[in-house]
Amino acid sequence: MEEKKFILQNSILIGGLGMLRTFLIYLSKANWMKEMMLNWGIARKVALRFVAGEKLEDAILVAKNLNTKGMNATLDQLGEDTNTPEEARETGEQIKEILNAIESSGVRAGISLKLTQIGLDLSEDLCVEILAGLAILARKYNNFIRVDIEDSPRVDATMRVYKRIQEEYKINNVGMVLQSYLYRAEEDLIELLKSNTKIRMVKGAYTEPPTVAYQKKIEVDENFDSLMEILMDAANNNNGPDVSKDGKWPPLPAAGTHDPARVEFIKEYARLIGLPKDKFEIQMLYGINKGLQDSLAAEGYPVRIYIPFGQEWYPYFMRRLAERPANLWFFLTALFRG
Ligand SMILES: Cc1cc2nc3c(=O)[nH]c(=O)nc-3n(C[C@H](O)[C@H](O)[C@H](O)COP(=O)(O)OP(=O)(O)OC[C@H]3O[C@@H](n4cnc5c(N)ncnc54)[C@H](O)[C@@H]3O)c2cc1C
Repeated sequence: MEEKKFILQNSILIGGLGMLRTFLIYLSKANWMKEMMLNWGIARKVALRFVAGEKLEDAILVAKNLNTKGMNATLDQLGEDTNTPEEARETGEQIKEILNAIESSGVRAGISLKLTQIGLDLSEDLCVEILAGLAILARKYNNFIRVDIEDSPRVDATMRVYKRIQEEYKINNVGMVLQSYLYRAEEDLIELLKSNTKIRMVKGAYTEPPTVAYQKKIEVDENFDSLMEILMDAANNNNGPDVSKDGKWPPLPAAGTHDPARVEFIKEYARLIGLPKDKFEIQMLYGINKGLQDSLAAEGYPVRIYIPFGQEWYPYFMRRLAERPANLWFFLTALFRG
């Protein structure tokens, strides 16, 4: 009887959390909520726990501070869909400014971007052209661009754009991200490793259906570990490059996670296969699990912090709330405290 009650209570809790997550993901796309939050001073202040600020200078300053703690950075100007080719080109120009600012300030940082920011949904040709322009500028500065991965309907297009910039523009300073919740991730990983593509492995941040993605956390975690094994073996076998001395280029494997169990697994697996510390890196989002960020850096592991900035912080912030109820609690108590 007691056991049944326990199972029922837990099912309600898990079901409730699932609904809360879906609701927060819905809010992340709702314009009315966005308008309200953007004009709400306290909400903006609280969001700054996860976002460096609204300006490029804010992000450079945060990167500098992290550099002094021994961590590298990847800067991300927030923003998702663009509606016209002009907007996509304009975003491309803004991203060039980030590369220029990294170069002139000398911070140890690369950049991350989403292909929908530079026109993926409008035209793949346009997206290839803008990405290649950015990669060529980054190459001039010996810098690196990471293409974030978005929701599953866009994964094929992202892979095509990546292949085209390699083949048509001979670009090799761009890396990819794979999501362990997708069934297809292993196949994509094996394909990308054929050209020694640098990969950031993540669990995945979108709500995906069971037709394409594992639904249970344990399955996503197990797949994460097994994909990291493949990636770390590849780094060991190719004797893949270290993190570059200036902190701009990541090594072949990167794990984007705040999960202590995943991090322990990676450290243990590296020890098992004899992969030196500087041949893989752990990446975390700005403001999340800072304790783990600090302790990894203190142990001598390369740590890269993903620093989002810009006026489009709203959907990013809502996705962080959806990921973890404790973040929502933090937000609500901060609001009530004023
Ligand atoms: C650098 C980086 C880049 C990313 N890029 C992408 C991308 O391109 N595309 C994409 O879909 N997703 C991306 N993500 C998001 C990712 O897919 C996950 O949604 C997100 O990282 C949450 O999963 P998790 O591995 O951190 O662990 P979870 O499964 O969310 O949490 C596991 C454990 O981690 C710890 N933890 C998690 N959050 C916190 C916290 N706030 N404070 C303290 N402990 C915490 C807790 O112990 C928790 O139990 C990225 C994540 C990172 C770190």
